[in-house]
Amino acid sequence: EAKTSGKRTFRFFEPQMDDQLQARKGLEADLRKALPNNELDVFYQPVMHAVREEVCGFEALIRWRHPTRGMIPPDEFIPVAEDIGLIVNIGDWVLRQACEQATRWPTDIRIAVNLSPAQFRSQALVQAVVNALAATGLCANRLELEITESVLLEDSEHTLTILHQLRELGVRVALDDFGTGYSSLSYLRSFPFDKIKIDQSFIRDMSENSHHLPIVELVIALGRDLGVTTTAEGVETEDQFRKLQALGCTELQGYFFGRPAPASKIRLSDGKTRRRGPTAA
Ligand code: C2E
Ligand code: MG
Ligand code: MG
Ligand code: MG
Repeated sequence: EAKTSGKRTFRFFEPQMDDQLQARKGLEADLRKALPNNELDVFYQPVMHAVREEVCGFEALIRWRHPTRGMIPPDEFIPVAEDIGLIVNIGDWVLRQACEQATRWPTDIRIAVNLSPAQFRSQALVQAVVNALAATGLCANRLELEITESVLLEDSEHTLTILHQLRELGVRVALDDFGTGYSSLSYLRSFPFDKIKIDQSFIRDMSENSHHLPIVELVIALGRDLGVTTTAEGVETEDQFRKLQALGCTELQGYFFGRPAPASKIRLSDGKTRRRGPTAA
């Protein structure tokens, strides 16, 4: 009986899992070469100030131009980079690129960089941030680090220590994808974030009879009471933009204002361009 099921498992395993394993091993091998082969790139998406209706920052978003498969989205390769211990190198590289780029922009423009849980585990994060700021000369208060609740879930004591060390450097800390985890509100109590980014899943449907609207209202009101900036992610329509503006959301980000683009496509020179949105291409 055990023998039969063992056989069955084996027969199932061999052809299918082997393909998946092969594909995964291939992806891992390719990813190890991505940085040295110059296949990684940082794109920048504008963040708008809701009242001034002007660009007030950019979020750095990594891109991988795979030599044969084309663009691979970060959601597909960042978890792999985490698993095989590459995320620290890749994360340091993104941080350096983003800080360097920000020094070319006006000083009231902030730059946001996403951090993975593994970067927190590495112990070298704070030093990496210090190095990136020192090497590029970027003022610490122009750098914002975005973390998700998964970071906070891990080892909250260690995480909190690091968050406080980052804060002492003058760097700002944002809680990304807010509302998608399990106990979001308790995180707001354990660490004083500078910014809450309301996940795009809440912004997508804010029609009158949607359950999302009161949640968005609540988070914006909470941000206001706590003195924390609120950013709406995934703003795609004028209607969403005007609603969020009326609700008092501080900052807005989404395809309506601009898609992530290479730095070379971004022009911030004149005020008019800046008000309309930064992308020319
Ligand atoms: P995120 O930090 O929440 O970034 C926002 C994602 O939403 C980006 O996807 C962005 O392109 C997309 N987005 C922005 N506006 C809109 C919109 O109006 N509609 C829709 N449908 N999507 C919009 P992207 O670039 O594919 O990145 C996905 C995730 O990958 C990011 O989510 C972040 O968690 C992670 N990621 C990206 N770059 C890095 C990085 O350098 N390091 C780390 N650790 N993670 C990164
Ligand atoms: Mg983010
Ligand atoms: Mg997000
Ligand atoms: Mg996300």
